[in-house]
Amino acid sequence: MTKTRFAPTSPTVNPVTRWWQARRLRRALAGVDAALWPRIIAELPLLQGLDDTELARLCDLAALFLQDKSLEPARGACLSIPMRQGLALQACLPVLALGLGRYRGWHALILYPDEFVPAREVIDEDGIVWIDDAPKSGEAWEQGPVILSLADVAAGQQRDGYNVVIHELAHKLDMDNGVANGHPALHADMSNRQWASDLGAAYDDLCRRVDAADQGRGPEPAIDPYASESPAEFFAVCSEAFFELPHLLQGVYPDVYRQFRAFYRQDPAARLPPVDPPPGRVEQTQPFHQ
Ligand SMILES: [Zn+2]
Repeated sequence: MTKTRFAPTSPTVNPVTRWWQARRLRRALAGVDAALWPRIIAELPLLQGLDDTELARLCDLAALFLQDKSLEPARGACLSIPMRQGLALQACLPVLALGLGRYRGWHALILYPDEFVPAREVIDEDGIVWIDDAPKSGEAWEQGPVILSLADVAAGQQRDGYNVVIHELAHKLDMDNGVANGHPALHADMSNRQWASDLGAAYDDLCRRVDAADQGRGPEPAIDPYASESPAEFFAVCSEAFFELPHLLQGVYPDVYRQFRAFYRQDPAARLPPVDPPPGRVEQTQPFHQ
């Protein structure tokens, strides 16, 4: 990796702002162990294919992320310096081309050693109150913290389409313009109508496939069936696939891949080598088009 540093400002930014941003970056870089970056990057295969400039920018964003956010171990969790920096790299990958401003409005990541059971009352859309006591690997609260199981964070070291850090931070991006509904604030050159149409059609297709698989009428879908829980989960799960198994997402839902490429301003399928999809996810090979 070269020493290239990203320029967080354009030439039109006034000199005081540029000075302040450079000072903020210097302070953030003083808070990380730069000697650890190469080993941590090598342990995260989803970062393969990023060039030196992109990796340097990602490391700068990770340092700023660790300065801005409070990582709070709880329930006896141990968080080493390499774990902190590895978590920050994964957290910043989705905003590599967007900037940390997309993670505004929240401050804390609460880190449990393993899966956790929140056991709280939930009111569903029919007004029925029930206790949600399902074990969770992560949660993202609206205008509140992100909660992660460190055992699941460690699973980010495999490219298998499961990445709890990207999943929960995709929820945060989704919540940036209100509730999580699978429709984050898009760039000016993107169409809200086309996004809703492309993601809505793919979500409906996935729900049909999950129902068919549940009833023994079809194979397990290529995308994790948890994505059929809601449009918000579809966005978060497909974001995991976009960064970990981009060829799978591009092969099955090419319109979703195209929308994500425009939204995240990245093209992981162009930079990552293809890997075999997880066992049981190979049957759905025909691309879905509306
Ligand atoms: Zn989720």
